[in-house]
Amino acid sequence: MVKEFDVIVIGSGVSGMGTASSLAAEGKRVAIIEGDLWGGTCPNRGCDPKKVLVSAVEARDHINQLQGKGLNTVPKVNWPELMAFKETFTSPVPDQMKGSLESSGVETFTGKAAFVDETHLAVNGNELKADHFIIAAGARPSILDIEGKEHFLTSEDFLSLPEMPDTITLVGGGYIAFEFAAIANAAGARVHVIQHNDKPLKDFDKELVDQLVQQLENKGVQFHYNVDITKIEKTSIGFSITDDTNFELNTDLVFCTTGRIPNIETLELENAGIEYDKKGITVNNHLQTSNLAVFAIGDILSKPQPKLTPVCTFEANYVVSYMTGKDTEPIAYPSIPTIVFSGPKLAQVGLMIDENNDTHERSTIDATRWFNYHRTNEPISSIIIVKEKQSGLLVGAACLNNEADNLINYFSQLIEQKVPASEVADRIYAYPTVASDLSSLYA
Ligand SMILES: Cc1cc2nc3c(=O)[nH]c(=O)nc-3n(C[C@H](O)[C@H](O)[C@H](O)COP(=O)(O)OP(=O)(O)OC[C@H]3O[C@@H](n4cnc5c(N)ncnc54)[C@H](O)[C@@H]3O)c2cc1C
Repeated sequence: MVKEFDVIVIGSGVSGMGTASSLAAEGKRVAIIEGDLWGGTCPNRGCDPKKVLVSAVEARDHINQLQGKGLNTVPKVNWPELMAFKETFTSPVPDQMKGSLESSGVETFTGKAAFVDETHLAVNGNELKADHFIIAAGARPSILDIEGKEHFLTSEDFLSLPEMPDTITLVGGGYIAFEFAAIANAAGARVHVIQHNDKPLKDFDKELVDQLVQQLENKGVQFHYNVDITKIEKTSIGFSITDDTNFELNTDLVFCTTGRIPNIETLELENAGIEYDKKGITVNNHLQTSNLAVFAIGDILSKPQPKLTPVCTFEANYVVSYMTGKDTEPIAYPSIPTIVFSGPKLAQVGLMIDENNDTHERSTIDATRWFNYHRTNEPISSIIIVKEKQSGLLVGAACLNNEADNLINYFSQLIEQKVPASEVADRIYAYPTVASDLSSLYA
């Protein structure tokens, strides 16, 4: 028997959860399908478990910085204990998420969904029909297609690693590699990062990326640039990684951190007339696919915006508003802050320019000796401000320090609300906090 719904959502990550429960609250008959862990990447194997591990890096860095300034011993990270703490966050997630969907009136199906035709899906022996579909099937780690690729571990393995070995190697220098490098380094491992060119973190400001690399190198992380690895071989003591020239590295574990690929293969998109490219499903500015009754949101999209949790939430809210007739305008993304939770943290929002031009000016501020950073003896605090020359308004900012994850949200708000510097000077911010520096940074 075919089960009928108003809307079927594929994938129960941040994107799918948000749309399914909101549409059910609007009175729609909604089904959701999940082929793996209910709750998807962010709470199970992404942002949240990663940030739990980052807590240990933050605590250790703080203590390390205050050696001889009131504190005397740097604690060791007990990896199995830290993992057990992480598990207390991740283990309950699938049941909680599924339960929460069901209690909001959404019918749940477990299994991989595949389109049969434009209005029907098959999942685990069930046939489901709907007027509309929302594809929120996310992405998974990509694996370099090289000899010995079966030896690669992924971000999912890193976040569940039972023991931290002596040496780990991260192949690919994106944000996940920089975060894992800081975590593994704090946990006592020798860490190597291999990058195929000399531009790690390519979407971030180069001046600050260079400073972050320097900080990690100071802690012992080794970066290998312009190395295109071609082979991984198992040895008696671990793995040997080589390229076509003279590069050779021995390591206990090797992780592929070269990015993520959209989960499109199992969906049989052709059966429903849904187009995609190698970066994901293509959509119009209402997030409709080439089949207008089907929407796509989140990490499965081919889009210029960064693939991050708050962007998924924004898209989920937009689709709900559009489907319920509350918003008929095209989606308009605000500026999106991005953060590398490394040691120190790097964050960026809005427009970045390499040097002054006719319309914009850039200033780099060395805030290392500013009170809010000096009090914790941070090794570096750099902040970049980009202003529009004519209006004087803030249009972009980047920062590298241990407070970057909080500071960037202030910059984001100032940019979005087009707040002039004069107004910031008139506001009262609690002192001493990073916010109380805002009027000195944006004058
Ligand atoms: C290690 C790591 C760290 C990250 N850290 C951050 C961070 O600090 N901040 C941040 O904002 N973002 C971070 N992200 C990114 C963030 O996690 C993602 O942007 C977000 O979780 C994507 O949500 P989604 O709902 O689009 O997809 P997902 O959460 O991936 O959900 C998609 C779901 O669809 C299911 N699915 C796939 N195919 C099918 C099918 N055919 N049938 C049924 N179900 C299917 C999958 O099993 C999955 O559960 C991180 C990601 C990783 C991997």
